[in-house]
Amino acid sequence: MRKAIIAGNWKMNKTVKEAVAFIDELKPLVKDAKCDVVVCPTFVCLDAVLKAAEGSNIKVGAQNMHFEESGAFTGEVAPAMLKEMGVHYVIIGHSERRQYFNETDETVNKKLKKAFEHNIAPILCIGESLQEREGNITEEVLATQVKLDLAGLTAEQVANLVIAYEPIWAIGTGKTATSEQANETIGFIRKTVEKIYNSEIAEKVRIQYGGSVKPATIKEQMSMSHIDGALVGGASLKADDFSKIVNF
Ligand code: PEP
Repeated sequence: MRKAIIAGNWKMNKTVKEAVAFIDELKPLVKDAKCDVVVCPTFVCLDAVLKAAEGSNIKVGAQNMHFEESGAFTGEVAPAMLKEMGVHYVIIGHSERRQYFNETDETVNKKLKKAFEHNIAPILCIGESLQEREGNITEEVLATQVKLDLAGLTAEQVANLVIAYEPIWAIGTGKTATSEQANETIGFIRKTVEKIYNSEIAEKVRIQYGGSVKPATIKEQMSMSHIDGALVGGASLKADDFSKIVNF
């Protein structure tokens, strides 16, 4: 049985004060959650959020990291820096990073390897654009992303990976893929992992759905056989909404 994981991606939102107030409000609301609970604030809020979440069941993730150990990479953050702080997860390859910051399958692959090397659990984001879905090439696009992003990862690493299937056309748009659509596509992603590795690994990898998840949509989404959780953007910014999603 795979344990569900619900993660909030705050993107470029919340000051340190706002982030701490959010965690203080969230803690009692999610203390009995049956799933893994993760919040991913900006780098500047990580330290304060880690301290505010101490002793609770809330784990903290970063939204990105560099694949080099250190050096002349102005504005970037290295994996060892995150690990030393106590960061547990890191989102890799979010579509906004692919779209606006030149993230490619090659850099995503390097980052995944580095995250595992440093014992930080990656949440790998993949997904197709509207044009690709309408062009009936969703499966081709996803299979290529899985193949390139996971290249060279060991079976053990992939068994511990979290993949977030996020159709780009559903992110921040209010349009969700239907639960059946999401389940079918996530089933395809699992099959692709099985082809590259084996059925045991494919059964272990946790695959979330992401794209306009709301308190009103989560119950049905979580009832689907292949959906192991959610990566939540907009609805993770209010403790009340996020706790309802976590307590699906
Ligand atoms: C996301 O940013 O990963 C996301 C799914 O955003 P939203 O929930 O706002 O669509």
